[in-house]
Amino acid sequence: MLGGQVLAQDALVVDSPKWSIAIHGGAGTITRERMTPELEAEYEAALQNALDAGARILAEGGTATDAVQAAIVLMEDDPKFNAGRGAVYTWDGANELDASIMDGRDRSAGAVTGVTSIKNPILLADKVRTESVHVFLSGKGAEEFAATQDIETAGPEWFGTERRKEALERVKAQQLSALDIDHKFGTVGAVALDQDGNLAAGTSTGGMTGKRWGRIGDAPVIGAGTYADNRSCAVSATGWGEYFIRVGVAQSICSRLMMFNLLDPEIVKAIRNEPESAETKINEITERREIDSQRAADAVMREVKQLGGDGGVILVTPEGHALYSFNTAGMYRGRATSEGVNEVAIFGEVLAGEE
Ligand code: ASP
Repeated sequence: MLGGQVLAQDALVVDSPKWSIAIHGGAGTITRERMTPELEAEYEAALQNALDAGARILAEGGTATDAVQAAIVLMEDDPKFNAGRGAVYTWDGANELDASIMDGRDRSAGAVTGVTSIKNPILLADKVRTESVHVFLSGKGAEEFAATQDIETAGPEWFGTERRKEALERVKAQQLSALDIDHKFGTVGAVALDQDGNLAAGTSTGGMTGKRWGRIGDAPVIGAGTYADNRSCAVSATGWGEYFIRVGVAQSICSRLMMFNLLDPEIVKAIRNEPESAETKINEITERREIDSQRAADAVMREVKQLGGDGGVILVTPEGHALYSFNTAGMYRGRATSEGVNEVAIFGEVLAGEE
C-alpha cells in the first residue's frame, strides 16, 4: 500500500516512509557457460555486499545520495568490476575513470571524466555536485579540484589488474574492438529512493578496453548514463556508451514517466472531481506505475538495440518500484526495498526488445 499522496503543483509526490534501491555491476554476454560456480558466488557476494550497504543507509533514514555512493564505493574498490580498482585500460595503457551522480530532489548533478588518480571517482563526482558551481569536470582539472577537497588518491598500481591488462593486449594484438574482447562491460551503478521521497542515481566506470583519443562514454554524461528527478525516476545505465549517449537513455526514460505523471487523466480527474475517492484511485494508478515504468525502460532499451547498441539500465520510481531492463544475455544486478524485496541476479530471463 502506498502512503498519503498529494498532487503538488507539477508533480505527483508520494509521501511515505518507503525506501528502495537497485544496483548494477555491468551488462553483457554473461552466461552460465562463461562462468564458474565459484566466480558466480563471488559476484553474488559482491553485489549483495554493495546492495546491503546502500539498503542499510536507506533503512536507517539516510539519504538516497549517500546510499548510492555507499553501494558504488564498494564496487569501485572491488577488482571484479570495471570501475575504480579493476578498471579497464585505455589504448595507451592507463586507467581513465568516469563517474557521475544526480540528486532528484533539486536535480543537482556532478560528474568527472578521465581521472587517473582518484580512488573513488563517485565521491569526487559528488563533491563536484555539492562543492563546486559546475556539473562536469575533466582530467587534470578534475584532479586539481579533488586536491582542494577531502578526496583520497591512489597510484596506478591500485587500479591495475592483470586480467584487464591481458584484455588490452588482446585488443591491440588482434585489432579487436572492446566488444569483441570483453563481452561484459562491468560498469557499476546505483539508484535509490529514500524515506523522504528523494531519488538519486550514480554511475562509475573505467569505460571500454582500448579506448583512445580521450573517448568519453555515457557513464559520466548526465542524461545518458545517469539521471534522477523526483517527479519521474532515477536511472543508471551500463552498456555500449556511444549508443546510450545518442539515445539519451537515462533522461529519456525519466521523461516518459514524467509525461505519465503529469498527464494521467485519471489522476487529474480523481483529484479535481472526486476528492473523496481520490486516494484509492491514485493508489490503484500508482500500482500500475510498475508496469508503466518497466514499459518505459524497455522501450528506450529497444531504441538502443535498434541503433545497434546493447546494455541495460536500473531504475527506481517515486512509488518505490526497483526495476531492470537489459538487452544483453545478463546483467550483474540487485534490488532491495522496504517492502521486503532483496535479491541479486546475474543471468537474464527476459530480454527487453525480444518479446
Ligand atoms: N557504458 C560504459 C562506457 O561506454 C561502459 C560500460 O557500461 O561498461 O564507457
